[in-house]
Amino acid sequence: MTDTVIAAPPMTTLPVAGGGSFPVRRVYCIGRNYAAHVVEMGHDPDKEPPFFFQKNPDNLDPSGEFPYPSKTSDVHHEAELAVMLKSGGMNIPVEAALDHVFGYALALDMTRRDLQGEAKKLGRPWEIGKAVERSAPVGPVHPVETVGHLDEGRITLEVNGDLRQEGDLNQMIWKVPEMISYLSEYFQLAPGDVILSGTPSGVAPVARGDTMKIAIEKLGSMTVKVV
Ligand code: MN
Repeated sequence: MTDTVIAAPPMTTLPVAGGGSFPVRRVYCIGRNYAAHVVEMGHDPDKEPPFFFQKNPDNLDPSGEFPYPSKTSDVHHEAELAVMLKSGGMNIPVEAALDHVFGYALALDMTRRDLQGEAKKLGRPWEIGKAVERSAPVGPVHPVETVGHLDEGRITLEVNGDLRQEGDLNQMIWKVPEMISYLSEYFQLAPGDVILSGTPSGVAPVARGDTMKIAIEKLGSMTVKVV
């Protein structure tokens, strides 16, 4: 468009394994989706309706670096499977939900836990803890044609070589098709939407200079340096 009154902001795009790039529209993140993590955060793991928060598209960052954010002294890692949609709609049935998935990627939901905790206590929104600059390091997008659908597989996160988080994708309380279906009852899903599917237990703080390594079976691994 040539008639924008200021320069159009750049669209976030993510590299696709095998070539091309994936343009990002929206980012939805589910909370408390692995029972052991629900317990470590002080909640009851019985299956309750899911809840979601959002990050901003430009919080996704494939650079391999995570700048320690401002106004916090307690930044936690959360290792997550990211789901990239190629199509959308509303009221998508669970059985049809996977037809909308383009691919999957390794992702981190980096969190200012101290500010999120304050927001929870005060009944305020979570953005100050979650929608943090460059807070979602993300690996290349692996198309479904090459990796299939990921309903099981080991997910781990190491910090400086020490295992911190470990789980299996099959431990998700709300499965990927259920998340897509649920979200589509409330929001118009569309191509370019990304869903972060929650984290297993073992979330913990990082410091500048740490090296995080997330791995998911079939997606390989990604190293992210805290700078
Ligand atoms: Mn998370």
